[in-house]
Amino acid sequence: MKFGGTSVADAERIKRAAGRIVQAAEDGARVVAVLSARGKTTDDLTAMAHEVSSRPHPREMDMLLSTGERISCALAAMVINDLGREAISLTGSQAGIVTDTSHTKAKILDVRAERISTALDDGKIVLVAGFQGVSTSADVTTLGRGGSDTTAVALAAALHADVCEIYTDVAGVFSADPRIVPGARKLGVVSFEEMLEMAASGAGVLQLRSVEYARNHGIPIHCRSSFEDGPGTFVVGEHTTMERPLVTAVTHSTDEARITLTGLPDRPGIAGRVLTALAEANVNVDMIIQNEPASEDQRADMSVTVPRSDFALAVDALTPLSDDLSVGELATDEGMGKVSLVGAGMRSHPGVAAKALTVLGDAGVNIEMISTSPIKISCVVREEDVERSVKDLHSAFELGPDAIRREDPRGDHRPVIQPDDEAA
Ligand code: ASP
Ligand code: MG
Repeated sequence: MKFGGTSVADAERIKRAAGRIVQAAEDGARVVAVLSARGKTTDDLTAMAHEVSSRPHPREMDMLLSTGERISCALAAMVINDLGREAISLTGSQAGIVTDTSHTKAKILDVRAERISTALDDGKIVLVAGFQGVSTSADVTTLGRGGSDTTAVALAAALHADVCEIYTDVAGVFSADPRIVPGARKLGVVSFEEMLEMAASGAGVLQLRSVEYARNHGIPIHCRSSFEDGPGTFVVGEHTTMERPLVTAVTHSTDEARITLTGLPDRPGIAGRVLTALAEANVNVDMIIQNEPASEDQRADMSVTVPRSDFALAVDALTPLSDDLSVGELATDEGMGKVSLVGAGMRSHPGVAAKALTVLGDAGVNIEMISTSPIKISCVVREEDVERSVKDLHSAFELGPDAIRREDPRGDHRPVIQPDDEAA
């Protein structure tokens, strides 16, 4: 069971989370609970660091940030002990989470869960501080923002858990952001592949890396509300989802920036140099588009999109290169957004892209870039067009609660209308 920051934000909520943990134990489960830092604690700690240092030392940043999750766990353990069950809280290090040495964005290398197993055998409830581990050189590390999800999935895999339950402030994974589309539907089941695409294209419910980890280890995730009972969304292997929706969800982000290099020399190796410069600056490149010049003496244009937070870094990395290659112009636009359609059924259905692009055209939205995967179509649009695009796509593909277009599970590609599938 993993509880996010809002689910443990104050004393009342910690008590409520602890109550759910105890209830699961009373129902017969062996329970390991991973907690996030309370409310905005991680942001506050980060701000504190920047009050005293303009470039906080990464090792010390991890010493600092890892405290937030420890606070939550110690407090929850106190509540559980008061409720009459034995509980023990552990740091990531004590829990046996071994990572590499890249501070503030460490990757889990191994989970040595013997101490947890022993405590479970002794009938204890184990609380593990999320988002942290111990590096191969014995320093405290953290796993990047949202990393408690990954802690929970990694522990679930190491302990061969039946399920990793992620308790959060939303009721599950929705067909679109309910703040934009009030009629968005809670999805009963999504596949790991769909969830990966959704997490990568803006759905904030689960950290991307946790979904990768769950897929690689075959750990089902149940993403559910910590404030209401009832099922949320199951994220499982594609073969167990039974039905393959044509389109499952519309996701979006409003913090994209675009950089275009015009007049690049058209010869082998140039694209590699551009992307290497960005990779060396640790910039996360999303889309890459390069055109082929029409005639031989023409030069090529190349555009990339990056998260807005990486924009300055990316421009710094490309400026020397563009002087070097005598690029015509380094054009930038910080006000971009992205809207994506995700659905496993797209793999076998032509026409989804045609329909999506037509819908955006009818809405008067200018599409600036397009990229696809077998189960996703993403369009870069102006930030101010994102909301309208999400709404129109959601209704055009009938993703709301009353009518759901589904690929027939028997595979004859006939769209079928099914009632709400929340019980799936
Ligand atoms: N507290 C950390 C964060 O805010 C980790 C987490 O909550 O998953 O990113
Ligand atoms: Mg989170």
